Amino acid sequence: MQENLKLIDLIIELVDARIPMASRNPDIDELGKGKSRIVLLNKSDLADMAWNKAWMQHFEDKGIFALEVNSKSGSGIKSINALVQKACAEKIERDRKRGILNRPVRAMVVGIPNVGKSTFINSFAGKACTKTGNKPGVTKGKQWIRLNKNLELLDTPGILWPKFEDNLVGMHLAFIGSMNDEIIIMEELACDLLESLENLYPGAVEARYGISGGEPGSAGMAGKLEEIARSRRCFLKGEALDLKKAADLLVDDFRCGRLGRMTLERPESPQTIN
Ligand code: GDP
Repeated sequence: MQENLKLIDLIIELVDARIPMASRNPDIDELGKGKSRIVLLNKSDLADMAWNKAWMQHFEDKGIFALEVNSKSGSGIKSINALVQKACAEKIERDRKRGILNRPVRAMVVGIPNVGKSTFINSFAGKACTKTGNKPGVTKGKQWIRLNKNLELLDTPGILWPKFEDNLVGMHLAFIGSMNDEIIIMEELACDLLESLENLYPGAVEARYGISGGEPGSAGMAGKLEEIARSRRCFLKGEALDLKKAADLLVDDFRCGRLGRMTLERPESPQTIN
């Protein structure tokens, strides 16, 4: 990625709008020094609308242009071209002063696995895009997608690895499904999720499953999971509750937005990581 960074003017960084901190690798700030930057709050359809706005403001306050998008439906994608021009205004002006006219901005998409990079590139580049590789003036072996006369995109996105060292980061990545579920104890993850949601969206879980919610506090989360199991008739043979099934169901409902649009991290609050 460091090699590819030398070829580009603009970094388009995708983050997950539900966890804009945990889904970033802060190294990109150092790696991307001197480049124009855009952060896209992807999967914004699954995140809380008010917090999407607050996060956009947060990035803009840091001097990074930001936009909320839904790469799956294409919503927000059309506004990107104008933002690219804004983010690269200095470069375009520099070129103009040197007499270089109409040199397209070169951009690279970066983000952690599963954040939606391929979906975004397909949606942004669309079907009409033409690949322009191995041409004079184009670095050999690199494939560029010419989006329009002003913009070319490197066709392979840069993968950033998340920083798992912080427990809360790991937990948030697991909630949205960006960790391997096979190494996760689902019942534990479900209880952690119930606790987070009780703090951030009180009543949402109770409303979804028609349960009373059990004891307040972390000790009550196992009880809450049992209530979900009962309400959704998750039973093993006999009367025993199938808590693994209930946990899978809850986590899947959260990941797909069936509990409502939810944002787990808030800018400049004690919840914020980094
Ligand atoms: P990549 O690993 O970063 O290339 O991620 P993918 O493009 O493979 O996307 C991962 C998953 O997220 C897929 O199931 C996509 O359909 C889904 N996805 C991508 N963008 C969005 C979005 O804006 N909203 C929603 N709801 N799902 C999305």
